[in-house]
Amino acid sequence: MAARVDAGTVVTIAYELRDADGELLDEPGATVAYLHGGYGGIFPKVEAALAGHGPGHELALSLEPEDAFGDYDPALLRVEPRDAFPEVLQVGMRFEGVPGDEASGDDARIYTVTGIADEQVVVDGNHPLAGERVWFRCTVREVREATEEELRHGHAHGEHAPEGEEG
Ligand code: ZN
Repeated sequence: MAARVDAGTVVTIAYELRDADGELLDEPGATVAYLHGGYGGIFPKVEAALAGHGPGHELALSLEPEDAFGDYDPALLRVEPRDAFPEVLQVGMRFEGVPGDEASGDDARIYTVTGIADEQVVVDGNHPLAGERVWFRCTVREVREATEEELRHGHAHGEHAPEGEEG
């Protein structure tokens, strides 16, 4: 029976994500499986556009920042004391959380070092693609019923499950 994308199905897609200049943002041939039905496993606009389709369906969408990685938030650009960071420090290094950021553990925001001075370090907690429009293109590879466990967890399991959500 040919399954259609619907709430409670796990959808495997081969996809390409490109920035506004057309640069590929993931490995070529990237594949992901997500649980359909508003679980946040994929961009909501993509999820909406895939509903009702089956294997072989192709989709190409331009996503505005608010539909992709969010708008750029200037409040997440922070200046922190140099001595709060390791001695060896380079622009581009990334840290989970910074001093003064309440979120921690799984909620910790990733900050990227964007500037280093004698006494201070500038870090940016925005996603690297925040504020950017991206191009999303995908082909549906497989649609199957989610297992009870997947529905309980709210995410897909198996080969193409997103990193960190294998269990
Ligand atoms: Zn799980």
